[in-house]
Amino acid sequence: MHEQDSIFEQIVDRGHERLCFHHDPETGLRAIVAIHSTALGNALGGTRRWFYESEEDAIFDVLRLSKGMTYKAAVSGLPMGGAKSVIMLPHREQPRTEGEARAMGRFVDTFDGSYIAAEDVGVDIQFIDWMAMETDHVMGGEKVSTGGDPSPWTAMGTFHGMRASLLHAGRSDDFSGIKVAMQGVGHVGQNLCKLLTEAGAEVVIADINKANVDKTVEEFGCKVVHHDDILKTECDILAPCALGNVIDGTMVQHLRCSILCGAANNILGDPEEDAVALKTAGIIYAPDFVVNAGGLIHLAGLHLGMTEAELQQKNDEIYDTTIRILENGKNASSTYSAAVGLAEERIAGGETQCHAS
Ligand code: NAD
Repeated sequence: MHEQDSIFEQIVDRGHERLCFHHDPETGLRAIVAIHSTALGNALGGTRRWFYESEEDAIFDVLRLSKGMTYKAAVSGLPMGGAKSVIMLPHREQPRTEGEARAMGRFVDTFDGSYIAAEDVGVDIQFIDWMAMETDHVMGGEKVSTGGDPSPWTAMGTFHGMRASLLHAGRSDDFSGIKVAMQGVGHVGQNLCKLLTEAGAEVVIADINKANVDKTVEEFGCKVVHHDDILKTECDILAPCALGNVIDGTMVQHLRCSILCGAANNILGDPEEDAVALKTAGIIYAPDFVVNAGGLIHLAGLHLGMTEAELQQKNDEIYDTTIRILENGKNASSTYSAAVGLAEERIAGGETQCHAS
């Protein structure tokens, strides 16, 4: 539960365009769509299915995530805005149903393309394809909509962010002898483990889901630590790839990494303050919305009509963007503020670097 201002104060404060609530009486679906900005174009952002302790928590999450999507698109040079949606589950382990997904699809359809939905935590390809039976404005399915699972692309972008961070730290961007501690080995985490182990890194993992731990150990031979200990594990790169809000000012004191670079959205509890604390502690922070943009770039790129080569090139650009932001961070209060600065500059100037044909 968060002590919050009124809903309007929160929207005004974060600069949102719209916050829309929906209830479907037939299925009981309760969902929220937050459109932060369409200044650069229509807004693509995932749908998260989650059990929230309160409505306030759901609103807080969707507002924060959608603003992050605006920054993510802008910093990646995409002519897209930022939005996100959440489905408030009535129970923690609520199984997904076709009825729920189709009701969500109908809700998404009411935005007429200004909001384009995709996968996020709790939503898989099947769910997207069910949504797509009701709306054309969804990406990331395989049978009814297109794009597929974006996680391999997110993992690849995060890998580029790690390479850039190593180079910025004065190390070689070759991973042999590099130890990575990864929190969360779900869709993105497993793909990232593959890239890292193939590149010669030692990867230590933790997850609260035993099946995901076992699968990752079997496939990539990673070592395992308890999930309560992973963030404090001594390593070169700490990679939070589970949920957000895992590092705050107190946790910064306990970190034993030289680089923080992960795929989770909103890794820092209070990004403005915590990123300064990281800088003070001498930890290189590669901002999450910069390095985890690979999935968005892939789906948005397909939506914009980019070719395979253009999609690959745009993903590779995460390396250059991370280098630029880490450099800019030297003269800013933090790398986070350097990244926000670049995003806001592009939004204000209507500037994107999209090479779509
Ligand atoms: P996922 O649900 O497939 O995997 C998340 C994993 O984290 C699960 O295995 C879960 O058990 C684990 N986990 C949850 N809480 C944990 C804890 N306290 N300690 C250890 N493990 C824990 O999700 P995903 O698609 O892999 O996404 C991971 C993160 O990356 C999310 O924050 C998501 O918003 C972000 N992200 C994902 C994409 C994408 O393409 N999937 C794109 C950008 C950002």
